[in-house]
Amino acid sequence: MITTALHHLHEAISTCRKCPDAGYFAQSSDVVIGMPVTLPRMMLVGQAPAASLRSKGLPFSGQAGRVLFRWLAQAGFSEDDFRANCYFTAITKCYPGPARNGPGSGDRAPSTAERRMCRPFLERELELVQPRLVLAVGRIAIEYFLGPLDLATAVGSTFNQPGRTIVPLPHPSGVSRWTNAPDNRARLDRALRALADLRL
Ligand code: SF4
Repeated sequence: MITTALHHLHEAISTCRKCPDAGYFAQSSDVVIGMPVTLPRMMLVGQAPAASLRSKGLPFSGQAGRVLFRWLAQAGFSEDDFRANCYFTAITKCYPGPARNGPGSGDRAPSTAERRMCRPFLERELELVQPRLVLAVGRIAIEYFLGPLDLATAVGSTFNQPGRTIVPLPHPSGVSRWTNAPDNRARLDRALRALADLRL
């Protein structure tokens, strides 16, 4: 059963110590993965979970989530509808700690080495869930699926890969100012229109 295999995978993720054992800050998070009752065909892949105090038990439930769900409303999804039909996960599964620049500078971006160590978990999630539509949220998630494209090239386009379509989105973190530029806001609007057309 796929759901049993996913359950075992989630257990393996929650007990994984690869990053701390390699000297990285990595706080195990029980909220990075959000799975609806039935196996969905849509997957959202973010960068890494937020600190548990900010996550309130659900992925994207803090400030970044408010921005994300405002965007998704533009594509025709209510938050409940989206959460009920999407498997949430991230490039790395543990909270990576705050950025070094101090308060207000967001969370630390997981290093290449951490992303490499965590990669088999996401590969297995993709294999089990087999999403037909993947929202790649933020530069690191976009790079995983599409290679080193810059945001301006990726956001606003859709990318067909065997068995799935990738819709890149910028990260909705309050730290990012990318969508403040009118051209970038237009790219985001195009991405949300494409997402509305691709709704499963
Ligand atoms: S981020 Fe991934 S590889 Fe690193 S400790 Fe957490 S689950 Fe393991």
